[in-house]
Amino acid sequence: EVNQAWEDVDTYSFGHLHPKTAQPSNDVLEHARINSEKQGLPDIAVSPSQGKFLYLQAKLVKAKSILELGTLGGYSTIWLASASPDVKVVSVEVDKHHAQVARDNIANAGVGDRVEVKLGPGLEVLPQIADEVNSGKRGKFQLTFIDADKTNNWNYVDAAIALSEPGAVIIVDNVVRRGRLAQSGTGDQGVEGARKVVEKIGADDRIDGVVIQTVGGKSYDGFLLAIVK
Ligand code: SAM
Repeated sequence: EVNQAWEDVDTYSFGHLHPKTAQPSNDVLEHARINSEKQGLPDIAVSPSQGKFLYLQAKLVKAKSILELGTLGGYSTIWLASASPDVKVVSVEVDKHHAQVARDNIANAGVGDRVEVKLGPGLEVLPQIADEVNSGKRGKFQLTFIDADKTNNWNYVDAAIALSEPGAVIIVDNVVRRGRLAQSGTGDQGVEGARKVVEKIGADDRIDGVVIQTVGGKSYDGFLLAIVK
């Protein structure tokens, strides 16, 4: 169902805008992808262009401290950790095997000393992270990337707001869901989780957001980008 032109534009533009000499290197990114596939992880990481978008967002907000929900094999984590040599990332993953593959891929990318992968369900691990932030052990976040169980999208945003600096960016992936975002009563958990986060953010004075629809190698979807006031 992926339109060939969407895929071709991704390949063409990424090839020019992230050439051989660019960082993070295509070698470490490809290693993360190939190793994840070999280890049996599902092919649901962000695309190269989406990864670069996250990396550029982290640079825009001059992120020093980044939170990620949903590590998988660490592909997006490597992009985020590469935004600057002093950025720290904490990423939460519920699946033990995913977390182990991610740690290997992240170490291979040379950013292992600045990334912590925490094992457990987001809702259980977030209070631990909150303790670390509130005790000063970890800095407040300038960027949060939410890409885990979609039913908890809003719960993750709500928790992240409290742990964010003013002006921080929060990105929620996969909210458009081939256009089903606009349909009520689908009964689909992913769609319901996406609608809830859109509606809750719209009604919340602490945060201001927008949904951007995307096409590409990963088909028709989109993300919600929001700024903490
Ligand atoms: N961000 C990754 C990337 O782009 O490379 C992709 C993440 S993948 C779409 C979603 C991940 O969230 C899976 O690895 C899954 O095991 C994890 N996950 C699912 N439910 C979770 C939960 N309750 N808490 C934390 N992680 C969860």
